[in-house]
Amino acid sequence: MFANLDMRTIYLVFAVLSITQALLMFYVRQVHYNSSFVAAWARGNGLVAAGLCLVLLSNFISPGLLLTLSYMLIVWGNMHIAFGVAMISGKQPKLRLGTVLCAAVMIIYAIGYLSGMEERGRIVLFVLASSIYSGYLIYCCVGAKRDELRGGLLLVALMGCAYLASLFIHLIGVYVSNLNNPLENSIWHSGSMIVTMILSFAQSIMLIVITGHRLQLELQRQATHDPLTNLLNRRALATLAERDIARSNRRGNLISVLMIDADFFKNINDSFGHPTGDAVLKAIANKIQSGLRIEDVLARYGGEEFLVMLPDTGLKHACEVAERIRNGIANIALPELPEGRRFTVSIGVAEREGVHQSFDELVNKADQALYLAKKNGRNRVVANTPFEADAITEPMHNVHRPKAALA
Ligand code: GH3
Ligand code: MG
Ligand code: MG
Repeated sequence: MFANLDMRTIYLVFAVLSITQALLMFYVRQVHYNSSFVAAWARGNGLVAAGLCLVLLSNFISPGLLLTLSYMLIVWGNMHIAFGVAMISGKQPKLRLGTVLCAAVMIIYAIGYLSGMEERGRIVLFVLASSIYSGYLIYCCVGAKRDELRGGLLLVALMGCAYLASLFIHLIGVYVSNLNNPLENSIWHSGSMIVTMILSFAQSIMLIVITGHRLQLELQRQATHDPLTNLLNRRALATLAERDIARSNRRGNLISVLMIDADFFKNINDSFGHPTGDAVLKAIANKIQSGLRIEDVLARYGGEEFLVMLPDTGLKHACEVAERIRNGIANIALPELPEGRRFTVSIGVAEREGVHQSFDELVNKADQALYLAKKNGRNRVVANTPFEADAITEPMHNVHRPKAALA
């Protein structure tokens, strides 16, 4: 069946499909904020399409030169496609190395052309160069850093393997049927070209689907995280709090929250600049996060306010955690600040009382305690209920008992 197909028709269909893929990628690139990897695929498909068009023209003018240029363009296109896949899989593509390799292949083609290289030589060189880029593409897909995209990328890797196989089948065909012109009809030639064409189209569709998935994950992340500290934002906190409150109602376990606010933060901004203020916020976020368990929830609640939700934790233990955090932050030596300059936080702590207390009421209690911590001099932990908490803190930073104070 394949042997009867005219090779020019196959090349024409392949060229049209590659142009379509390139246009599709250009469109996807607009939609996806000019993503560099989609741009690389668009360029790659455009170059492959140009290479295929040159093969068609080689029937009319100077075949040797046009075929040489055609292989160069297709190798170059394959390089861009592999680089795009490397980027979306979370790898840093070795741009310089890839470009040097591509340039070397082009120089060999140019020398080959000048010394009368035949089709077989061109094909061998093409298969070798394309195998390196396809191998790199498969390597990137298999070792992808983004777990969520792994399924799709493994499919792309599978297609890459099939593409490699079809390249080698093509090469064998060239030797078995003694071909010396890519437009000559042969079952090997037409069969491998059709397989390559289908794989290339399927690969582009798969890459577009993965790009859409990635964008969706990115938007989801932006909707739930604070860009500066990378912590959960208030909206995501509300969702998690609802889950933990429901669990606590079912099982009857405790929940405590810490409301943490940077002291005199405005002064830091005013004295050292906003970027230094940002660095302080990040340092505070990291310090709090480093002392928490996996089930604890930390969110950026406001500008310089952080909220920690501690499931299965009573007030006393929550105060110990708060004191550890307070002390840890007070000892941070930030390179952005002058030698010896430290910053502190005040922390209000509250424990949920009974199943009827909502999360907002609990946060409100912690906020009242925080207000007292500020009022009583800052750099301290205050709990919103009376209890015995001897030796939790240094004498300077006693855990206060606000109910008494509020009364
Ligand atoms: P207090 O001890 O009473 O909490 O005083 P404060 O100066 O920390 O509190 P205030 O509410 O007066 O100031 C908070 C400042 O936090 C004001 C605002 O400009 C700053 N801020 C809020 N968000 C950010 C941010 O993302 N980056 C930086 N650098 N500053 C921020
Ligand atoms: Mg503050
Ligand atoms: Mg504040």
